[in-house]
Amino acid sequence: MRRRRTRQFAVIGLGRFGSSVASTLYKQGQEVLAIDNVEDRVQEMAPHVTHAVQADATDEQAMRAIGIRNFDVVIVAIGEIEASILATSVVKGLGVRYVVAKALSDLHGRVLERVGADRVVYPERDMGVRVAHNLLSGNIIDYIELMPGYSIVEVTAKEGFIGRTLRELDFRAKYGITVLAIRRGTEVIVAPNPDTTIEKEDVLVAMGEDERLEELEALP
Ligand code: ADP
Repeated sequence: MRRRRTRQFAVIGLGRFGSSVASTLYKQGQEVLAIDNVEDRVQEMAPHVTHAVQADATDEQAMRAIGIRNFDVVIVAIGEIEASILATSVVKGLGVRYVVAKALSDLHGRVLERVGADRVVYPERDMGVRVAHNLLSGNIIDYIELMPGYSIVEVTAKEGFIGRTLRELDFRAKYGITVLAIRRGTEVIVAPNPDTTIEKEDVLVAMGEDERLEELEALP
């Protein structure tokens, strides 16, 4: 298996979102510096990341002293709007190449972009969309938007799929949909070959245009 390149991440703001980003990156083998201005948060996080330091991210001197510009990616996960905007502007100003900032609202997001955020994420809004998709389409277990109009969804095998091979079902020609993987119980068949036969309760991880995915989903 190809090994993922280790990169250096700094996560600023160790609330629920920031601490989850930081510990996940660390578990995935990345180097992670966790930063918060509250010492208790820093102490709590220390065992789950490479380094944890207490600092105020709106303080340019403090960020320079940490050597923030040497990090490949900085994630600003501060919940307070004013501090998050200031911190984003400070780290961008110090020359960080890629800054991801968490926004609480569209307006907040637009300002973050203005001050230089390379990517703005809206975790609460995105989770709301996800949960709604889950509730509305019984079979769609999960949903990832790739770009507007295109997604990856999980679809439980329809009655008509069972006992047939991917070649026979030919989703690509009929719907322009690619089956990326099949979940079968605890097993995952990645990049299934065309002769794979679909079994009852298989979950197809399918990628394609939203409208076509909905057509697939609507099948009995
Ligand atoms: P969540 O909604 O993800 O739980 P919070 O807003 O509760 O996020 O947490 C944000 C974190 O950011 C808090 O731990 C807070 O101490 C930290 N924080 C706030 N301002 C700064 C700052 N200027 N520098 C560093 N960390 C900060």
